[in-house]
Amino acid sequence: MGKQTKAIISMNLKTVITELNKALADEFLAAYQYWIGSKVVKGYFRKTVQDELLEHSKDEFRHAEMITDRIIQLDGTPIINPKDWYKLTTCGFMPPTNPNSIEILKQNLKGERCAIGIYNNLLKKLKHKDENTFHMVAHILKDEIEHENDLEAILDDIEVTKKTS
Ligand code: FE
Ligand code: FE
Ligand code: MG
Repeated sequence: MGKQTKAIISMNLKTVITELNKALADEFLAAYQYWIGSKVVKGYFRKTVQDELLEHSKDEFRHAEMITDRIIQLDGTPIINPKDWYKLTTCGFMPPTNPNSIEILKQNLKGERCAIGIYNNLLKKLKHKDENTFHMVAHILKDEIEHENDLEAILDDIEVTKKTS
């Protein structure tokens, strides 16, 4: 990391790296949560749900990549062992044991709401302290908000369909 890069970060670097690794654990688990959900899902709007979950899975993987790149840029070590995903996660992992599309959508929605809370708190910590990480997190948060909206919309559509059929 360059001297000037380091100089403009006015908070403990280790703290930034720890927070980013926690977020990285959540992103990987979220990517798998969506991906495996898209494979096992059955029921209402199967194809729509599969497509949406797969798209979100790719977004979460991209977030994991952005976070990893930033950790490396800060001279930190990104999570090397997948065992640490479970140790560092805040939002956890909900095995999609029930393939019903409503249940899977609800699990993912819970995950998104957790992620939104985490990134919102992280933004408060980073503001005016590490502007580059701040902007990256703001970008990720924007995606998570869109994810929450998309999942809510499909759940609404299912409810409307159930009532009219
Ligand atoms: Fe994400
Ligand atoms: Fe998301
Ligand atoms: Mg979407």
